[in-house]
Amino acid sequence: MKAVQYRAVGAAPEVVTVQRPEPGPGQVLLKVTAAGVCHSDIAVMGMPAEALSFPLPLTLGHEGAGTVAALGQGVTGLALGESVAVYGPWGCGTCVMCAQGKENYCLRADELGIRPPGLGAPGALAEYMLVDDPRHLVPLGDLDPVTAVPLTDAGLTPYHAIKTSLPKLVPGSTAVVIGTGGLGHVAIQLLRALTPARVVALDVTEQKLELAREVGAHETVLSDEHAAARVRELTGGLGAQAVFDFVGAAPTVATATACAAVESDVTVVGIGGGAAAVGFGTVPYDTAVRAPYWGSRAELIEVLDLARSGAVGVHVETYTLDEAPKAYERLHHGQVRGRAVILPNG
Ligand code: NAD
Ligand code: ZN
Ligand code: ZN
Repeated sequence: MKAVQYRAVGAAPEVVTVQRPEPGPGQVLLKVTAAGVCHSDIAVMGMPAEALSFPLPLTLGHEGAGTVAALGQGVTGLALGESVAVYGPWGCGTCVMCAQGKENYCLRADELGIRPPGLGAPGALAEYMLVDDPRHLVPLGDLDPVTAVPLTDAGLTPYHAIKTSLPKLVPGSTAVVIGTGGLGHVAIQLLRALTPARVVALDVTEQKLELAREVGAHETVLSDEHAAARVRELTGGLGAQAVFDFVGAAPTVATATACAAVESDVTVVGIGGGAAAVGFGTVPYDTAVRAPYWGSRAELIEVLDLARSGAVGVHVETYTLDEAPKAYERLHHGQVRGRAVILPNG
């Protein structure tokens, strides 16, 4: 079968032919209908060899959806042909975090060598993919897998980040979204669906800000050294009760803390290497800074239900498997509008 692999440190992703996998006991084989392309893959492909915690080659793709193609020995509860989404942050299933469905915070995954598909285990950018356990699948029902697949990360990650801050996003509050790409353009919709907050979106191009307005941002601000002052102006000097940074680079993290109000949450989701300065007098009183990772199994079910209600619609650009390297190029250059989705069997 065809797969898109990251094969050598520093090399571009390549379309290659690999053995089609067979499901072992307890595993499920999916025929992949759709796979999303995330900026984290570009971060992984930019890491030096010593920073990689898994061997190459790696089949990419940590946002996956497919139809059940074969069941390993002992697997029940799934029908052949059923349309499912993959919960990506695989954990051990039994530690105290996994027991709560928070496999994204599994306490034993590292020790046991359990890696998410596309981030260590073979991923979704292939005609077929193996899923290690049926608990990592959520039925899609009649949701379109092409627009639903980004919800497994570009939806789940902001949902998890926003959910913690919901008590602060009361009427009259302001939420700031920095970076309105794959994750950010879903975050704006989640904030509009779940809160009465005024949403202010920041990005570096007018094109991105146009998408931000289209998906529900009340205000948009160019992300430069004046952005925090502009947010303060828009909030009568008070700042925002919640700031979500989907870039996470030094200048955006600085903007994020500079936008913050008293008793606010600053959430750094982007993995751009920036760090917040936190201390008495450095941030407003009682500001909390968090750096969450992905989301829980229950939260994925919730996000998919929200999409089913019509409250969230991912903007997608679609590509064939052969075009996947081009999709990564476009993402790298900030040219993707919403999320790039690969159709490996399309
Ligand atoms: P993306 O490329 O689709 O979107 C990033 C957006 O940020 C783009 O619109 C870009 O124009 C904008 N941007 C770039 N520099 C900016 C700046 N200085 N100010 C404002 N906006 C700027 O990327 P994505 O796939 O949505 O991922 C976003 C980030 O989140 C990446 O760093 C990714 O690695 C990370 N991520 C983290 C988690 C997690 O669990 N913490 C999960 C998924 C992705
Ligand atoms: Zn991702
Ligand atoms: Zn665990």
